Amino acid sequence: MMHNYGGIGMVIGHEITHSFDDQGAQYDKVGNVTDWWTKYDYEKFKARPQQVIDQYNSFTVLDSVHVKGALTVGENTADIAGIAIAYDAFKLTEQGKDTLKLDGFTPDQRFFISMARIWRVKTTDQFLRMYVNTNPHSPAKWRVNGPLMNFTPFYTAFDVKEGDKMYKPESERIVVW
Ligand SMILES: [Zn+2]
Repeated sequence: MMHNYGGIGMVIGHEITHSFDDQGAQYDKVGNVTDWWTKYDYEKFKARPQQVIDQYNSFTVLDSVHVKGALTVGENTADIAGIAIAYDAFKLTEQGKDTLKLDGFTPDQRFFISMARIWRVKTTDQFLRMYVNTNPHSPAKWRVNGPLMNFTPFYTAFDVKEGDKMYKPESERIVVW
């Protein structure tokens, strides 16, 4: 049951935050294109997608192929925000507040394992090349590693330290919402 927070919970969080991604943010609550933001908020908000674009551009998919940061920014923003929303919801549950290990894993570790598990996929290199050039989502591996390398509770859960492959200093971890 609790695994669902890391799985479908993350997906639900992802979909909700599309209302506030680079495109969704341009619509008001009834669906009209309206600038409803304060100038201050919107300027702050616009800086976040740029951080996401720059970071995802640095992810190597195959030899010289990188994630296309600009093409995937809306989906990546929703992935980063979605895991945070799902985690907040999970922490409101009894198991989320507990530390009881099951199969050797803490509740937080199981939450993240479940998140990674829903994106398992096997593809050919040819498919991946085509996907990266045409799909507004990042490849599955980066839909997991991208959000998690920005999410401090993941570091805590697995004791991720400087020198580990997914480590980013706290100042470089992107928080969207
Ligand atoms: Zn999406």
